[in-house]
Amino acid sequence: MIRVTRKIEFSAAHFYHNPNLSVEENRRIFGKCSNLHGHGHNYTVEVTVAGEADPATGMVLNLKELKEILEREICDRMDHRHLNYEVPELAGQIPTCENLAAVIWRLVEPKISQGRLDRVRVYESPEIFAECTLEPNGNAPHSAGSGAKAESR
Ligand SMILES: [Zn+2]
Repeated sequence: MIRVTRKIEFSAAHFYHNPNLSVEENRRIFGKCSNLHGHGHNYTVEVTVAGEADPATGMVLNLKELKEILEREICDRMDHRHLNYEVPELAGQIPTCENLAAVIWRLVEPKISQGRLDRVRVYESPEIFAECTLEPNGNAPHSAGSGAKAESR
């Protein structure tokens, strides 16, 4: 099997807040990230597709097509947006890297026509990333949702 990865970047704002917790608990758990005015990140997303190289093209999938899918499904939805308010797929979730990776998996996976989505990695900074992969049994990953309802003002 061969894995091929495409990277894409976008910028977005967010904050972390669980309305089921007190102001103090939110501050204790999320620290500066709980500031309701939000803050920005330059996100890097790596999407990996696994499969066999097509003998006719030498490619697992057409990388131009993959780029178009990522621009449409990720950048058009999330670039220069406020993730708490403007991305319906994240509604009711705290927009962490973990939840973002799971949402991106669900958006991109059905669009992959050759090979199989293998991994989605979301970097919030060069030091921090979360990744979504297939379950050990080969099933698609479950939602990484925390079950908490994010602030929806
Ligand atoms: Zn942040």
